[in-house]
Amino acid sequence: MDVILFGPPGAGKGTQAKILVEKLGIPQVSTGDMMRAERASGSALGKKFDEYMSNGALVPDELVLELFAQRLAQPDAAEGAIFDGFPRTVPQAEALDATLAKLGRKVDHVVALSVDIEDIVGRITGRRVCLSGHTFHVRYSPPPPSGVCPECGSEIVQRKDDTEETVRTRNSAYESQTFPILAHYEPLGVIDKIDGTGTVEEITGRILAALGKS
Ligand SMILES: [Zn+2]
Repeated sequence: MDVILFGPPGAGKGTQAKILVEKLGIPQVSTGDMMRAERASGSALGKKFDEYMSNGALVPDELVLELFAQRLAQPDAAEGAIFDGFPRTVPQAEALDATLAKLGRKVDHVVALSVDIEDIVGRITGRRVCLSGHTFHVRYSPPPPSGVCPECGSEIVQRKDDTEETVRTRNSAYESQTFPILAHYEPLGVIDKIDGTGTVEEITGRILAALGKS
């Protein structure tokens, strides 16, 4: 089963992807992680990524898709994969379709998480993290008044990117470039619209039900 996790930045796709890996027994395919691994490996493809990324340039879709083709051909991805953070544009979706078609596969489900932008602003701007990555939220999981992480003793801060302005800028990019992907998959009848509000468990339950796995 090949599943695209779809939704605005901050909707909790990454969290759900990790849970679905466990529940469905198929790997998460994340462009960022794969590109970092490929660069670290020093392969010819990794060196090409280096050239673009060290100049701050966007890596062309063809190179990203080459990486996808390699990844999807590995044994652990033979039964499918969970795509999180890719495709981000309609051309990328078309290229992913073509890559899967070569393997005799297709996108079986597009899980579209819908979350109100104001909820996302609240989630992200209230987020606090310690230097080891333990996460807090001023309302839902308040950090101690000392500002020191009870788990690891490091300082708790607000990330520079966790501002309302950044959230709204990212959301605009999502609406203009990424949202049209839904129209691309709509005729195929593979879109599952999921209410992305509630607890992590509630959202997972809705996704599994939509996938017929609950
Ligand atoms: Zn910590």
